[in-house]
This record gives sequence, structure tokens and C-alpha cells, in this order.
Amino acid sequence: MKILFAASEALPFIKVGGLGDVAGALPKALVQKGHDVRVVIPYYSSIKQSLREKCNYIKYFYFYLGWRNCYCGIFEAKVDDVTYYLIDNEYYFRRNAPYGEFDDAERFAFFSKAVLEILPQVDFFPDIIHANDWHTAMVPVYLDTQFRWREGYEYIKTVFSIHNIEFQGKYGMEILGSVFGLGDDCAKLVEMDGCLNMMKGAIECSNAVTTVSRTYANEILDPYFSFGLDPILAARRWKLSGIVNGIDMDVFNPETDPAIAAHYSVDAPEDKVLNKRALQQELGLPVDDNIPMVGMVGRLTDQKGLTLFYPIMEELMKENIQMVVLGTGYADLENFMRFCDAAYHDKFRALITFSASMAQKIYAGSDIFLMPSKSEPCGLAQLISMRYGTIPVVHAVGGLKDTVIPFNPMDGTGNGVNFQSFNAGDLLGAIRRAIAIWWQPDQRKAIIHNGMAGDYSWNVSADEYIRIYESI
Ligand code: ADP
Repeated sequence: MKILFAASEALPFIKVGGLGDVAGALPKALVQKGHDVRVVIPYYSSIKQSLREKCNYIKYFYFYLGWRNCYCGIFEAKVDDVTYYLIDNEYYFRRNAPYGEFDDAERFAFFSKAVLEILPQVDFFPDIIHANDWHTAMVPVYLDTQFRWREGYEYIKTVFSIHNIEFQGKYGMEILGSVFGLGDDCAKLVEMDGCLNMMKGAIECSNAVTTVSRTYANEILDPYFSFGLDPILAARRWKLSGIVNGIDMDVFNPETDPAIAAHYSVDAPEDKVLNKRALQQELGLPVDDNIPMVGMVGRLTDQKGLTLFYPIMEELMKENIQMVVLGTGYADLENFMRFCDAAYHDKFRALITFSASMAQKIYAGSDIFLMPSKSEPCGLAQLISMRYGTIPVVHAVGGLKDTVIPFNPMDGTGNGVNFQSFNAGDLLGAIRRAIAIWWQPDQRKAIIHNGMAGDYSWNVSADEYIRIYESI
């Protein structure tokens, strides 16, 4: 099959969150199964220079987005047998960060249309276009409303994956024509509650809709999780399914990871403790094997459940633990972490930054990893932590529920600790349970082994995507 994977971020070029991991690893897994997979992403100025140098300029052309005649450059790169097309337009993509600009609607309308416009330019008409999240949600909409009757586009099928339903690409309906270049006859496809909703348009127009875990696929049919889209999804339930994400087992590998101090494996995990010592030293914390190190890596947002720490932090800090938090996000949560760093400086560190190498050091150097997300479509951090032999403590929602199996001390099965209701006291109880397991040598050994021995590769999930591609 010929598959075009459209995303706003993809490793190795650019990553903001889990979508970047998925768009880097899933195409690679599909290529290994014999498919012709190409990925298209924006050519952001924030892509590192060393990676930009790997991209070859192909050509440029112009196309219309509404009344605007837009420049569209195409760069090409090949990584692990996956062909990447990078869409160049300095007006839209020469910015400080991939998202969060005042004109994101226009930037990603341009990108979504470019995904379709480049096909004859690069002479690649795929069987399937796989679009992801709101940034590329307009691809299936443009395909159905502006491209279907053009030669080559007639039989392309579309899959739309929801990685996070919280961000839907919502704007005022008044920009439908001026920004998106769509006529009033298209309004009903994208209109939701009086707003223009890009994700809603993709759900309407795609042949299949997927999300990134089985549990989350059910959860988003409920208003508590759906951010308003549940009636639309419920009516299109026949085309909705959930496929759990994997991780790139080559990139996240404690046997070879260049970012960590000492390598170890499931059969010889002893040297993991050297990473803990290195982490303690780097953070300026007491170097002591007998203090459990608790780590967190992730966006500091409400979705990640960080508000649960407000009422319990004082209590938690009475435990004999050390804690490190790496992340950026909402100002109040960043400031809370900074406050904890100052208030409990003998045991707590807040690293308010984005650092891929520090993240790896935390995955490898921690004993316990916290992910109390309020909702979690799939979550990758808990998978990475298990791969690195770190005990995950998670709220049992979405992908966290599907991937973290509670440890049973009676028979030594399970790979983590979870709590059922989104409640601060329950989180504290779960952390204490994890600490208790860590202190029991046999239990510690079993839970670490179960986590590290798990198969979190894309192998099985890539087959499930292929089944969906074939079915449509
Ligand atoms: P989400 O996609 O909701 O942000 P995931 O758990 O699915 O959450 O994926 C987050 C990914 O981004 C993980 O690979 C995690 O290690 C990484 N990450 C998040 N914040 C940071 C940070 N501050 N520094 C380095 N890596 C980070």
C-alpha cells in the first residue's frame, strides 16, 4: 500500500509531545512491513540546523488558499527508508515554536491544503492519507470538497487519528471563507455549536477515525472526556476504533541510550542504580541508593493531573524520597513546581525546560515514575519508564489503564501501580504503595522485570493500522 502520513510534528525532525514520537515511529514500522510510507510535515525554522542539512530542496510552486496565492517549497529527506516531505513557507513556519501563534488556523489550513497540492508535484498519489489531530484535520475536508474531481485524487481513502481531543482547532465561523477558502456549502461539515471546528470536519469526512487506545476510544463517547465532540463521535461510532501507541524500541533502549550514564538490560538490570547516582549528583541531591527517586516528565498542564499535588505535596515531602519534575506548561503549575523546589530543596527539583536528554536520565535514574493524568489518550511516558525499569504510578484512564497492569504482590504479576478515582488522597496512597513495593526486594525485582520485559514496540499496533487501511 502507498500511505501518506500527515502530521504537524514527527521525529527525528521536530517533537513537541507524543504525536512527534508516533509520527516518527509508526511510519517506520509500516515500512518494515513492506509498505511505501511517506510523511509530510512543515519545514519549521525550529528544526535543528543539522537536520535541515539532511533535507534536499526539490521544487517550489504556488497554490491558492482562498484569495491568497501561497508559496509552497518542498524539501525531501529519507530516514530509515521513510521518505519525508517538508513543506516550506517562511511566512507561516519561520516562528519561535511550532504552535501557539495568533494565526495557527491559517498556518495549518495552508499546511493541510499543501499536503494535497504536493501530490502531483512529487508524483505520489497514495492509497491512504493518514491525518493526525486538528493541525491536519482539514486534509480530509479539502480532499472531499476541493480535490475529489481532480485526476489522481478520486480513490484516495482517509484515516484521521485523534491523539488528543482537547485540542480541536476551534475558530469563529466567519473565517470559513477568508482563511480556509471554503464556501458556505461546506459550513455544515465543519460547524459545531456555532463554531468552526476542524476536528469535527475530519470526523465527518474521513473513512475511518482512530484514537490511540481502546479505552480512550470509549471514553471520548462520554461528555466528561469528549470536550463536546461526543454526539458527533457517537453518531459515527461505526468508523471509530482505538489502537494503542507503541514506542520506538531502538530509540528508547536502556542497553544503548547515549544519554544515560550506564547501560543495563532486563537480564542484567543491576547497573540501573548507577544512573540514579548520576542523576542525584547532577541534580545536587544527596547521593544515596536507599532513597527512592520519584520522577515526572511531561507537559505541566491540568490534563496531566498536576493539580492533584496541591493538597498532598506537604504530606508527600514527609516521605523519605527524592523527586524531580521535568516539564513546561501552564504558568501556575510551573510556578508551583518552582515553589516546591524552593520549599523542599533538600529533596525536590523542578526543571522547567524541555530537554530530551534530561528526560532520558530521569526515566533511567528514577525508581518510581508519576503520571496521574486526569485523562490520557495513550501516554508514552509510562511506556518509556517501564522500558527503563521504573515503576509507573498512574491514574487508571485511557491508555494508562490499557498499558499499566496493577502489580499483584501475591503472584508477582503486573507492571505498575494505579489509582481509580481522580483524587489527591488516592494518588498519595498509590505513591505510598509503590514505595512499599520498592522496599521489598522480591517485589521490586518482579515489578521491574515485568515492566522491562514488556513489548511496547509498534509491531502489533502497526498491523492493526494496516487492517484498518485495508478495510477502507
Ligand atoms: P503528550 O503527548 O500528552 O504530551 P505523552 O506521554 O504521550 O504525552 O508523550 C510525551 C512525550 O514528550 C514523551 O516522550 C516525553 O518524554 C516527552 N516530553 C514531555 N515533556 C518533556 C520535556 N520537558 N523534556 C523532554 N521530553 C519531554
